[in-house]
Amino acid sequence: METRILKAEGDALKEAAALIRKGEVVAFHTETVYGLGANAFSDEAVKSIFSLKGRPADNPLIVHVHQGYDIGKLLDGEPPYAKVLRRAFLPGPLTMVYPSKGKVSKFVSCGLPTLAIRVPSSPAAQAFLREADLPVAAPSANISKHVSPVTAQHVFDDFNGKIPLILDGGACTGGIESTVLDCTGTVPQILREGLVTREMIASVAGECGVYHAAVGEKPKSPGMAYKHYSPRCRTAYVKTFGEATSLYDEEETKGGKPCILCESGLISRLGGRCFLDLGASGEEMAQRLYALLRRAERTATLLIGIAPSMEGGVMAGVLNRLTRAFGGDV
Ligand code: AMP
Ligand code: MG
Repeated sequence: METRILKAEGDALKEAAALIRKGEVVAFHTETVYGLGANAFSDEAVKSIFSLKGRPADNPLIVHVHQGYDIGKLLDGEPPYAKVLRRAFLPGPLTMVYPSKGKVSKFVSCGLPTLAIRVPSSPAAQAFLREADLPVAAPSANISKHVSPVTAQHVFDDFNGKIPLILDGGACTGGIESTVLDCTGTVPQILREGLVTREMIASVAGECGVYHAAVGEKPKSPGMAYKHYSPRCRTAYVKTFGEATSLYDEEETKGGKPCILCESGLISRLGGRCFLDLGASGEEMAQRLYALLRRAERTATLLIGIAPSMEGGVMAGVLNRLTRAFGGDV
């Protein structure tokens, strides 16, 4: 199959919507990362997302809809704070998990009684979803566990020959996946950190919890159980500058090509060593992270990450993705 990359406008949107209605899979731009979308009402279409990605069968999908779509058709009630949060943050990088009416394919939520819904703010995504006018189930458009895609080329690199169409909306400005928020309890609870932060949600809803699975417990958001977002080169994640440079020099002596991924403030101390500049703020790091991880796997034999010193706000999401990309804590 030929995989075409088309700008997300005009006839390409019509073609994408027609493919979705036919049960095919289409990749599309959002403000977070690119999504791999299929008709959420179709069992076969949803199953093909899992097989294309090699995604574990117990990791549920997020359903994407346009701003005018009546999500009441899909939900079995909602707590009062959910309305307030929707008004404050949607469209945008916030996925809300609700009790489900079970209208979409059972493969979307992998047997859970809930449904995760997102209204992306990217104009390209909105235009595509309006044209399709049905819920589009979409995980990130990467092979399972690989780094999430933030350009159409990244999607092409993972799915060339396997999907008919990629809707190109340019580079993703957000850069990390949406915040996933459980809206089934009396207090909203974050299942996955992202660009809509705990602080932002609490300032609107009054309270906001963050869910951490207890040791041995099956996590509420199954996707959080896996090593994820990983570049295909060797990696090391360290706390200090000294550890990073000694690993670097050791790798270079062995004839390898090391590279250091760190916050902007450390770069002037690196001497002539190869580096990738993660940025100086949470937002900047979120926007750059995945493109840098994909660059590293093309050019380095060993990627050494130095844990950023900042915390709070968007950094919660950035640190979560970094830890999981490098396969564990510092
Ligand atoms: P991805 O689409 O690859 O960005 O991953 C979607 C994330 O949303 C994963 O961490 C899933 O586990 C989570 N998710 C999707 N649907 C649900 C749901 N019904 N309940 C809890 N988490 C969900
Ligand atoms: Mg993903």
